[in-house]
Amino acid sequence: MQTWDEVAHVQPLAGKIITNSIKKNRMSHAYLLQGGRGTGKEAIALLIAKGLFCENPQGVEPCLRCSACKRIESGNHPDVHWLEPEGQSIKIDQIRHLQKEFTYSGLESEQKVYVIKGADTLTANAANRILKFLEEPSRQTTAIMLTENSQAILPTIRSRCQVIDLKPLDPGSLKQRLQEEGMAKQQAVFMSAWTNNLDEALALNNNEWFATAKKLVVQLTEVLIQNPNDVYLFLHNHWVGHFKEKDEQEQGLDLLLLAFKDMLYYHIGEESQQVFFPPGEELVEKAAMTFSREQLVEVLNAVLLAKRKIKQNVHPTLVMEQLVLQIQG
Ligand SMILES: [Zn+2]
Repeated sequence: MQTWDEVAHVQPLAGKIITNSIKKNRMSHAYLLQGGRGTGKEAIALLIAKGLFCENPQGVEPCLRCSACKRIESGNHPDVHWLEPEGQSIKIDQIRHLQKEFTYSGLESEQKVYVIKGADTLTANAANRILKFLEEPSRQTTAIMLTENSQAILPTIRSRCQVIDLKPLDPGSLKQRLQEEGMAKQQAVFMSAWTNNLDEALALNNNEWFATAKKLVVQLTEVLIQNPNDVYLFLHNHWVGHFKEKDEQEQGLDLLLLAFKDMLYYHIGEESQQVFFPPGEELVEKAAMTFSREQLVEVLNAVLLAKRKIKQNVHPTLVMEQLVLQIQG
């Protein structure tokens, strides 16, 4: 998202609130942008900063070509500073350091911008220091706080900021964004069913563990359909070793859920809804011959039950053994 016009398509409400205040020349001194990864927090922060420094704005839009716009884009503007957690939190020393830098570099203008990533990790001291700084009337300082975890924002910060809620991406626009980023269509369909988070989808796309997890789900499906007698062996030789941690075990079951949902879609003639297997996949047709519609519904329930057991710390191998037994009826 390079322009407010583009923001309007993805985050219409947030875009409208901010562009209205630009038009009225009533920008807030502190914004809190809250939303999951991939919802456009950093893009919006960049746009706000460019709007404050652009030498040649076109209405509400910064020109994106002047030296100010370019330096902000590349992170090299002396009056626009980005701050992110060092380790677990943003500490008061980081704020002190930043304020020192601001004092030295305030050559270009009185206007200064802080962009604070992970604002939920500000320690109380660091937050107080920033707020004091913001409230000095002599300063033209704008703070843009970004958070994925709005629950953890200190009330003192929240109450002094204009809070902008960013909505999660819907699967349709996420799929489109992923394809724009070069992801193959089928993979984009799958990823947008898996997460509503752009960054996560892009990262998972290059994640070897995840690719192997998907392969194992396909293989487990094959074994269940073609060699049901080997299913325990498969679990012990392949599955258990890959899905080690609790969240991995849950992801394995979530993948299995998507795979079996596809089979149900095939049964009811909604192949276009398939997300795990591409439409026309032979394995889905075979599965549809193995399992009746009613059986598939039971399987989906069994997978959900298995997930609950994992959450309740039932031994994961036992959970999987029980699950395949139920799948085989
Ligand atoms: Zn510009």
